[in-house]
Amino acid sequence: LAKRQATSLAPLSPEEKILVDSVSNISISEWSYYYTHGYHVAGKNKTMAEWTADRFSENGWNTSIVSYNVYLNYPVNKSLSLTYSNGSTFQPLLEEAVLDADETTSYPNRVPTFHGYSASGSAEAEFVYVGRGQQGDFARLKELGVPLEGKIAISRYGGPFRGLKVKNAQENGMIGAILFTDTGDDGNITEANGYAAYPDGPARNPTSVQRGSVQYLSIYPGDPTTPGYPSRKDSPRADTRAVKPMIPSIPVSYVDAIPILAALNGHGIDGEAVNRTRWVGALNVSYSTGPAPGTTISMSNLMEDAYTDIWDTIGIINGTNPDETVVIGNHRDAWIIGGGADPNSGTAIIVELSKAFGKLLAQGWRPKRNIVLCSWDAEEYGLVGSTEWVEEYIPWLTDTAVSYLNIDVGASGAWPYETSYCPAITDSGGDSIEATPELHQISIDVMKKVPWMDTNRTMYDAWLEFAGGYIGVLGSGSDYTAFVHKGIGAIDMGANGGSGDPVYHYHSNYDSYHWMSNFGDPEFLAHKYMTKYLTLLAYNLATAESLPLNVSNWVTQMETYYDDLLSTINSTSDTLDTSPLRSALDEFAAGSRDITALEQQAVANQDADLTTLVNHKKRDFQRGFVSQGGLPNREFYQNLIFAPGIDTGYAPTTFPGITEAFLAGNISLAAEYVKKTADAILVAANIIKT
Ligand code: GLU
Ligand code: CA
Ligand code: ZN
Ligand code: ZN
Repeated sequence: LAKRQATSLAPLSPEEKILVDSVSNISISEWSYYYTHGYHVAGKNKTMAEWTADRFSENGWNTSIVSYNVYLNYPVNKSLSLTYSNGSTFQPLLEEAVLDADETTSYPNRVPTFHGYSASGSAEAEFVYVGRGQQGDFARLKELGVPLEGKIAISRYGGPFRGLKVKNAQENGMIGAILFTDTGDDGNITEANGYAAYPDGPARNPTSVQRGSVQYLSIYPGDPTTPGYPSRKDSPRADTRAVKPMIPSIPVSYVDAIPILAALNGHGIDGEAVNRTRWVGALNVSYSTGPAPGTTISMSNLMEDAYTDIWDTIGIINGTNPDETVVIGNHRDAWIIGGGADPNSGTAIIVELSKAFGKLLAQGWRPKRNIVLCSWDAEEYGLVGSTEWVEEYIPWLTDTAVSYLNIDVGASGAWPYETSYCPAITDSGGDSIEATPELHQISIDVMKKVPWMDTNRTMYDAWLEFAGGYIGVLGSGSDYTAFVHKGIGAIDMGANGGSGDPVYHYHSNYDSYHWMSNFGDPEFLAHKYMTKYLTLLAYNLATAESLPLNVSNWVTQMETYYDDLLSTINSTSDTLDTSPLRSALDEFAAGSRDITALEQQAVANQDADLTTLVNHKKRDFQRGFVSQGGLPNREFYQNLIFAPGIDTGYAPTTFPGITEAFLAGNISLAAEYVKKTADAILVAANIIKT
């Protein structure tokens, strides 16, 4: 593999050196082992919350457990069978194979396959393959005359958030949904390409199933019964029908999906003829739409509703300046006993981070700013632990929060690290870093302080080569969401495998310690260097005299969002007056020049009061981007600059109020949001102006 010239490591301060020298892959692997050998579905992991609190406390953090009483549901029973028109049947396995090599797959309390927040119910009907289940897929099926009403949907995973696939099926009159994993999303590492399947090799185990929540992530995360306020035992509870499905859904493996899809071969429209993005996957079937007359699925799903406590473990180091706070978070709950990557690679990393800061605390060190370290519960159901906490502490967060640093899947592969399986990695595992614009520069600068994977290269070198030097826009899918939509800047990070790395079994029993220690990150080196990275990033944000947040990059980034909006408009025959937005962006650019000049003056004169003023402006300006009413029909999403796409859930849309209304053909609503977005940008501009 051709290497670029290695960048030399940026120098470290004595404190930074103490922090990074304390990080050990041995202790990280111990924390990982602990978290991946116990039951930790949301609301059932109190001992892990307490164990985490003990680690934070012994490292000198002032720690407490904050609990909320939230609505969750748990699986009781399910069934699924296929009946061919000739009366013969196929019974899928539905559960993942127990593997001798991987002990936690055989735990008696292992978690069945199911969808969090799925509806109880049963359905029996002919079925239709709906591709990735986006609105465009359904529109295409209708155009082709494929009947949907009263049928069951079978959809592949990938692309949009799974809950939106079920939502779209329901809104098209379908009565049940089956979601399957397709090896077409596994990169080059497949059995078809000659790789052995886990546990014998790096390819996907054929029985692996992706669990996961089916709430409507792009409409509302958090406890669906308490929109906008924290969940207490006696809290009023809202109806959940607008934010989670009413039709049953069941996830299945690709071995279970093959006979179901094969039953549609030759029926309806052939997959190639449908001609939609990623409609045809890698399984040996035609991906025909169906329905196959007289061939039916019978399914049932029984869930138990629960109002139950969840536990966020919160550790605090008080800064000398109480007005500024850096928040770091990772979720602890997993769908499975393991969770080696999701989320406990991140959990092991934050425990190790707490230990690193403990070394400085033991010397009597105190940061300038407060550091709050959060281990969230119930992320998997819908970012519940973090959202409820933000809903409770929003007055204090609005006053003091500087940045939120999120690490969920901290390491799901040895990106970018050549393993014996991938002598020629050619691409990265996606955007390994996504962040609000003011954090781009500091996040890149800190990469230059971190060596990577025991090589002579820096993390910066590796990121340039494998992630293309690109920092993504935050959409949703993890715990930064509630922060961003209250106007708090955030970053999300992780080291992911590329298409030539061992297949990561997302939300499956095989996301285990055994997988991680044999395939994903065998020596826990990705964990180790990600810990160093997150620790240094937090340290710099919490201690620099002048906050290392780059306001001017908001100008640069918003210009690209604006260009994208203009291209969107120009690609249609509709028109939209964007001049209010244009002048607001110009005002913001003027404000950005003001604050840059003010900061230079503060530094040149070593003026402490002026530095504080500049820091406060940098802390506060993003609050301007949020609007109380939020986006159309999704009040939770208040940030008018970016939001998860309404039909993607994960992937972001920029200037979402304008863009989505315009694309939906609602030009007057788009115009209304041009005004609202421009007003929000003017509020932000006024904060940075002098
Ligand atoms: N990260 C989880 C997922 O992608 C939870 C997202 C959510 O439901 O809010 O399934
Ligand atoms: Ca709530
Ligand atoms: Zn996660
Ligand atoms: Zn997850």
